[in-house]
Amino acid sequence: MDCIFCKIISGDIPAKIVYEDATSIAFLDITPCAKGHTVVIPKKHYDTFQDIDENAVRDLFTSVKMVAKAVEKGTGADGSNIGLNNKKAAGQEVPHIHIHIIPRYEGDGGGAIQSIINTHPNTDNLDDLKEKIKYCFKKI
Ligand code: AMP
Ligand code: ZN
Repeated sequence: MDCIFCKIISGDIPAKIVYEDATSIAFLDITPCAKGHTVVIPKKHYDTFQDIDENAVRDLFTSVKMVAKAVEKGTGADGSNIGLNNKKAAGQEVPHIHIHIIPRYEGDGGGAIQSIINTHPNTDNLDDLKEKIKYCFKKI
């Protein structure tokens, strides 16, 4: 498969790997947005968050928790933003699910996750929206 992250897993391209277990691997981002920016990926290829199966998501986030602790300690960070860009519209460029761990430092000038986007959506009809989303659970 022509996937850059699968090639890191197979060892075909190098990476600064900080953690590896049977199901996950974590490495330093090649274009970090903060010192210690790390990505955690499942060894099995899934394109998006919705594609990943339940056991794999449990394994992945178990690894994310450990990696986040080590990254914060190892960098001396004061906190971190942890999340994923899910699908192209959300900024996903590498179509192999990966969780970003972005260390944060007091006074670093960055914002919270909510600062990624604010289109000031109308909040007049949140009950309607709530029902629309709840209805979709029946189709999952
Ligand atoms: P995303 O926009 O969520 O798909 O982010 C993909 C991330 O992968 C970016 O932050 C890239 O800098 C990072 N990345 C791409 N190629 C590599 C690579 N070969 N080694 C490490 N990180 C990479
Ligand atoms: Zn892949």
